[in-house]
Amino acid sequence: VGSDPGLPVLGAIHEQVGVAGRILLLTHVVPDGDAIGSLLGLGALLRDRGKDVTLACSDPVPGLYGWLPGTAGIVARGNGRFDLVICLDCSDPKRMGQAYSEDLKSVPLINIDHHITNTRFGLLNWVDPAAVATAQMILALAEHKAWPITVDVATCLLTGLVTDTRSFRTPNTDQASMQAALGLMEAGASLPDITRRALDQRPLAVIRLWGQAIERCQLERGVLWTEVTRDQRQSWALDGNSESGLANFLSSVREATVVVVFAEQDNGLVDVGLRAVPGTSVAEVALRLGGGGHPQAAGCTLAGDLAYVKRVVLHEVWTMLEQEPVEDT
Ligand code: 5GP
Ligand code: MN
Repeated sequence: VGSDPGLPVLGAIHEQVGVAGRILLLTHVVPDGDAIGSLLGLGALLRDRGKDVTLACSDPVPGLYGWLPGTAGIVARGNGRFDLVICLDCSDPKRMGQAYSEDLKSVPLINIDHHITNTRFGLLNWVDPAAVATAQMILALAEHKAWPITVDVATCLLTGLVTDTRSFRTPNTDQASMQAALGLMEAGASLPDITRRALDQRPLAVIRLWGQAIERCQLERGVLWTEVTRDQRQSWALDGNSESGLANFLSSVREATVVVVFAEQDNGLVDVGLRAVPGTSVAEVALRLGGGGHPQAAGCTLAGDLAYVKRVVLHEVWTMLEQEPVEDT
């Protein structure tokens, strides 16, 4: 079962939340639907309980999630005085980026996450790799105290489930995640609306960019890889992260065991998105490279030029594939 409501850590989290007045909620850099959905969902739940809540994320909310209720209130940095910090969907403290500042060091931090690679950096750590999304854990947290789920909360949390499972298609999709989705739909969230807005709509420029990347993709020893350069992205006037969907799309290629998408960023870093078929895991290789993630979808961010990063990452992936024979699934 995804999130066992009998877990003692749930009681401990509720105890901390119960005595805290001002709470800072944080999520990861380059946020995805689960990051934003969990942040807004828990934020609304805590405000409904009378808490003074600040929501922070280092990077702007992607346009894809701009329609979710409450996005306008998300700030880039957690400034001010807080009794409690809750970190959502972050596998390591680096993932909080600028949203977390040094002067928060003395404030107790609760770490709520579903990445198998989580480094357990909080005072309290609730890490559940069986949950398909952090949003599923937020629902379990609310259900533990029978907190009412408003339509807004349900919409935010279902967005997290839908985006992290690509609408319930990833191999970790199970009865518990479907049950959670059903509960959120019963609370008023629209599955077709969320799926269309968060997964099935993108600007034509993104498709053109993907077209260039697809044309350049290479397949060797089970690894399919491609790249998106800064110049390409700029020529289509695109910023930030439009490559997550590309990695997912490429993972449908039958000949590929692992997919790698290299995306050159504006700051001299290269964002690396990894995907693996069931029976192979990219979580460990991502962790070794300073990132993290899930067995089937992971990533890391490396400094250096594209050619160097490609060499380092592809070497690691091939070494991993040679050492770990692919299991039957
Ligand atoms: P995506 O390829 O969609 O950006 O990311 C897939 C998964 O890998 C997500 O679960 C995400 O949290 C994780 N991931 C992506 N990039 C990084 C990174 O730079 N560092 C860490 N720790 N995880 C990452
Ligand atoms: Mn997630």
